[in-house]
Amino acid sequence: MFENLSERLSGVFDRLTKQGALSEDDVKTALREVRVALLEADVSLPVAREFVKKVQDQATGQAVTKSVTPGQQVVKIVHDALVDTLKGAEDPGRLKIDNPPAPILMVGLQGGGKTTTTGKIAKRLKEREGKKVLLASLDIYRPAAMDQLAILGAQIGVDTLPIVKGQTPVDIAKRAKQQAALGGYDVYMLDTAGRLQIDEVLMKEVQDVAAVVDPRETLLVVDGLTGQVAVEVAEEFDAKIGITGVVLTRMDGDGRGGAALSMRAVTGKPIRFVGLGEKMDALETFEPERIAGRILG
Ligand code: GDP
Repeated sequence: MFENLSERLSGVFDRLTKQGALSEDDVKTALREVRVALLEADVSLPVAREFVKKVQDQATGQAVTKSVTPGQQVVKIVHDALVDTLKGAEDPGRLKIDNPPAPILMVGLQGGGKTTTTGKIAKRLKEREGKKVLLASLDIYRPAAMDQLAILGAQIGVDTLPIVKGQTPVDIAKRAKQQAALGGYDVYMLDTAGRLQIDEVLMKEVQDVAAVVDPRETLLVVDGLTGQVAVEVAEEFDAKIGITGVVLTRMDGDGRGGAALSMRAVTGKPIRFVGLGEKMDALETFEPERIAGRILG
């Protein structure tokens, strides 16, 4: 998921660790290269700047140049700074779903992976936490999207709300809420309609639905490959409807991955899961240590 960034950084660090003693200039040069590598990975400029400053302060404080293995020490400092930058939710995979039936609102742009992720999370809740989950599609504009959710539900053994033609998203949300209570469900997940771009109608629709169900979690699903655009989309959704977390999809691709590093710092919202493929099992909780390890290769 971070192939390019990893490659760049390992190049920088190889040169650094091969040297016996490091001068301040060596560290400075290396950090400049780290900054370029971050920007190339589409990490936002303020975040990249802040990151390099953090490492620089640490490196200076620890008198790297006097250490026995100064290069490795810098790598360790970078590792810790990565973990710090990535850090978001305490326990990212734990969704607030006490007090059944708990509504989870799934939002995002069309094609970001929202429906797929809804299925993945439902499967996870069912299998790992033994939850009884109900899925409902609110995408009245694309019948195919409704069918897609029904097919996924059948595939993972999770119920979907029967499709009734002619209803508004708010009607469907009310029906899901009622069915979830009557049917003894622990969780009901609402897969809202996406658009190709953010528009007012979409936001209003999601707001109206949120007003009806009062979601415990509102998860934004965004394509991780879109880098800074993913972060901008998150900012906008958060400003308009308030999100409780982000799911970054397509992190199995060899994209630049910068969104993972910028998301928390820019939006203040934690990444909760990453999508790693099209299959229903291809979902991981967002663990900063593991991600930092992958970035450093
Ligand atoms: P939606 O319009 O936001 O509901 O998007 P979909 O869930 O229909 O996903 C769009 C496409 O992206 C589908 O072909 C999915 O299989 C694919 N997809 C979703 N998540 C991932 C992921 O994490 N990795 C990869 N490689 N593909 C994904």
